[in-house]
Amino acid sequence: MAARFEDHGQLQLLERDETEEEEDCFEAIDKLISLGINAGDIKKLQDAGIYTCNGLMMHTKKNLTGIKGLSEAKVDKICEAAEKVVNTGYMTGSDLMLRRKAVIRITTGSQALDELLGGGIETLAITEAFGEFRSGKTQLAHTLCVSTQLPINLHGGNGKVAYIDTEGTFRPDRIVPIAERFGMDPSAVLDNIIYARAYTYEHQYNLLLGLAAKMSEEPFRLLIVDSVIALFRVDFSGRGELAERQQKLAQMLSRLTKIAEEFNVAVYMTNQVIADPGGGVFISDPKKPAGGHVLAHAATIRLMLRKGKGEQRVCKIFDAPNLPEAEAVFQITPGGIADAKD
Ligand code: ATP
Ligand code: MG
Repeated sequence: MAARFEDHGQLQLLERDETEEEEDCFEAIDKLISLGINAGDIKKLQDAGIYTCNGLMMHTKKNLTGIKGLSEAKVDKICEAAEKVVNTGYMTGSDLMLRRKAVIRITTGSQALDELLGGGIETLAITEAFGEFRSGKTQLAHTLCVSTQLPINLHGGNGKVAYIDTEGTFRPDRIVPIAERFGMDPSAVLDNIIYARAYTYEHQYNLLLGLAAKMSEEPFRLLIVDSVIALFRVDFSGRGELAERQQKLAQMLSRLTKIAEEFNVAVYMTNQVIADPGGGVFISDPKKPAGGHVLAHAATIRLMLRKGKGEQRVCKIFDAPNLPEAEAVFQITPGGIADAKD
């Protein structure tokens, strides 16, 4: 509801309250220098896109020995040192509960939609939105670009945004009225969004690899991939290419999961719908999300968007570990996603 964001004047972006300084959720890779790993080897890891000890532990030894100049003995030594810095074993339920306290919920701009989501789009998770064209997937992405930059006490994430666009539908001029609606300075908001247009699935994957360097240096809270599957459907459109497509897609989704967990980031990805001939004869236009089981398993929360009357849209929880199957109605306005007016 708009009232929640009013009367704060021009919000100052990323001005962190000293007393509330957020702690980094990761350990930088150069910490290993103090544990006897030489700076040259650290540089090799960074060149391969590994900037944190947490990120290092998400790679197999086979991956790591594939990095030029790192022998098996060196990799063993590096991993041993990293294990001293990050806990890679069991933890208690209470420790896990404490870790879950780091989860930030970012407002969608609609209170009804936030309530449906248990507070907003979550960090440490992947939220997938699928639905027919014009159902609001990209408009929600634009709104999140702005709301992520709000302070935490205004249901934001107090962080920057990375946007990977595979469809060429990001519009910086849409950000302006949305920022104004939230009482923020549009040019400062735009400065805090890093954007890349991907043209092939390989390019999309490489852009994700390049994010670790940026996220280890500055506080990012949202990564948008709009859409996650479009390029895979184009680049693997030949007969007999489905198995390879799914394998590459799984690799990319695994990267997204790791980014969410390594940097306490919310990943918001959109998906396309495809005809579902098995949808049943009683459903007039049966549709299902693309990407099959691989995509279904990667997403933490799956949202199905559809058109309602006029500018109204309906969001249904399609699959979520701890949310009931329910719906919320919202509206697309010049100021972004908002509650529906009756
Ligand atoms: P696609 O599958 O084609 O990518 P999508 O789900 O991403 O579709 P969006 O682009 O998010 O769809 O939504 C488009 C809709 O947003 C338009 O049909 C329009 O109703 C609404 N919209 C776009 N800009 C504005 C605006 N400035 N003010 C109000 N509504 C807008
Ligand atoms: Mg779109």
